[in-house]
Amino acid sequence: MAVTDAFISALDHNKEWAAKTAQEDPLLFPTLANGQHPQILWIGCSDSRCPETTLLDLKPGDVFVHRNIANIIHATDLSSSAVIEYAVRHLRVKHVVLCGHTSCGGIAAALGNKPLGILDLWLLPLRQIRSQHLKELQGLKTEEASLRLVELNIQEGVRLLKQKDVILEAIETRGLQIHALIYDVACGVLRELASDEPEEAIKARLASFKLEA
Ligand SMILES: [Zn+2]
Repeated sequence: MAVTDAFISALDHNKEWAAKTAQEDPLLFPTLANGQHPQILWIGCSDSRCPETTLLDLKPGDVFVHRNIANIIHATDLSSSAVIEYAVRHLRVKHVVLCGHTSCGGIAAALGNKPLGILDLWLLPLRQIRSQHLKELQGLKTEEASLRLVELNIQEGVRLLKQKDVILEAIETRGLQIHALIYDVACGVLRELASDEPEEAIKARLASFKLEA
């Protein structure tokens, strides 16, 4: 028996999905054709096991998305910066989610020392975090160290997000919420990390990064 090519099969599934969705929710596609009003900006890993709309059990139009390897926020990354600007300033999303996940290949790579070409440049922030927390990470078993670096990366990402004026302005003027999540690929469940920040740190951050209106 001939094996069906994954891509050909996916195109067939798309036709079936479009017909089924149109039947179940006749207004969905006509509404989406008129524009989008997502309430969530999701910044996650490119990993195939972390499809945000599927795992949130949402629909097209519900989530604006940026995904990259290991969900890293680089202050100078034009792509993620443009997505964040558009989602926060123009779409006026109510929630920004930064989501890491278990068994992340980018995290594993940054905890190893194999040369990976251009990926080494991309993963540099993870190596910087590794270096800052080396003692703690070295004291953990491989899986625990990976999970810890996932957490540290998300915390660092949230810190960088909160240095962006567009985010600070939206937090102040309309209560934009920032969420740090970890997705467990072994069971499909999301966990939110606590985000308590001392009053002094919030003051220092606003004084340093909030620009004039
Ligand atoms: Zn990943």
